[in-house]
Amino acid sequence: MNNLESFFISDLHLSQNFPRTIVLFLEFLKTKALEVDNLYILGDFFEAWAGDDLASLADDQIIQALKAYHTTGRKIFFMPGNRDFLVGKHFAQQSGCTLLPDPYVIQIDNQNILLMHGDSLCTFDKKYQRFRAVARNALIKKIFLYLPAKLRLAVAKKLRAPSKNTMISEAQKKIFDVNLSTVTEKMLHYNAHVLIHGHTHKPIKESITLNQSDKLGQRIVLGEWLADSGCYLHYTNHQFELSSYRLT
Ligand code: MN
Repeated sequence: MNNLESFFISDLHLSQNFPRTIVLFLEFLKTKALEVDNLYILGDFFEAWAGDDLASLADDQIIQALKAYHTTGRKIFFMPGNRDFLVGKHFAQQSGCTLLPDPYVIQIDNQNILLMHGDSLCTFDKKYQRFRAVARNALIKKIFLYLPAKLRLAVAKKLRAPSKNTMISEAQKKIFDVNLSTVTEKMLHYNAHVLIHGHTHKPIKESITLNQSDKLGQRIVLGEWLADSGCYLHYTNHQFELSSYRLT
């Protein structure tokens, strides 16, 4: 165990509808994740979250597992994504997670590392950004959490219903992807050398030109978790390595 070593994951989309991914993650926590002492979860950990008071039995099992990991002396940092942005203080308390705002800057090896879920980088999608601005409003969130459970669950279900139009054109794909000029803008703003985000499910490690000079930054995109494999980023030996976790 090394203080500098961390794992970064996102987009597990945990839900009782996909029990194999839950099993995979619980095993990851009990084995692989013990190799490091910082676990960063960068959004869409849960497929849906309609309030801390509405956790399902499966959610409770996950919360207990996070707590057990935290009890070993390790730290879990939790940045909500667009699916689970209603995760709150009660969840944090129960699970031992430290909630992080999006965006958030950490320092590793004296470098600024910018952490984001990634949905706010998809600025081609004006309609989504308008929805995001409203949904993330503190007052709106508060009002929503006062609604009856049934209504909240219905809204959450509606929000994650897949688009009926399964044929997505290339132009639409671009709209749902990250806008690279927003990426460089944010990295320069936060004076970050590295950006780590999820959301798009397109894992990659690439160089980014940060300005007119030859200063290069690095963008690392985390991949989603499926039934038999989960993407994780390992910071070790002063560098980032993208890997895939599988049950052996
Ligand atoms: Mn997302």
